Amino acid sequence: PLDIEELGRSSWNMLHTMAAYYPEKPTKEQQSDMKIFFYTFSNFYPCHTCAEDFQKDLKEMPPETQSAEKLSQWLCKMHNRVNEKLGKPIFDCSKVFERWKDGWKD
Ligand code: FAD
Repeated sequence: PLDIEELGRSSWNMLHTMAAYYPEKPTKEQQSDMKIFFYTFSNFYPCHTCAEDFQKDLKEMPPETQSAEKLSQWLCKMHNRVNEKLGKPIFDCSKVFERWKDGWKD
């Protein structure tokens, strides 16, 4: 059976890591490909209720693909929408590179 929580954790892991390692100065083609990626992802995400809500959120807040920073901040906001819906803590988006690229500072 589909484990929505496990699927969610591994998906966010991949998505945030992909955003953190996206180019600082993407080409027009990379920007367009990344937008298409998120719309396609939302069409095939195997948790269908999650996918429906994600599609609505994408309509309201289209992917910001101008840089790694923009994409990571946008994805952090998208994830926080889901956190809010599920009653989970809101993540501090200023810490997104620390969490997903550089590693936590002690
Ligand atoms: P997760 O939310 O999976 O987060 C993993 C880690 O990411 C956290 O430990 C934290 O370190 C970090 N993190 C948390 N918030 C942020 C943020 N805003 N930015 C950056 N990093 C952050 N589940 C449902 O039950 N219903 C849904 O409708 C639903 N929709 C989803 C839509 C998508 C696109 C995805 C990928 C997942 C969805 N999920 C949904 C799954 C849900 O978001 C969680 O992944 C799942 O509940 C497990 O939660 P978790 O507490 O382990 O942490």
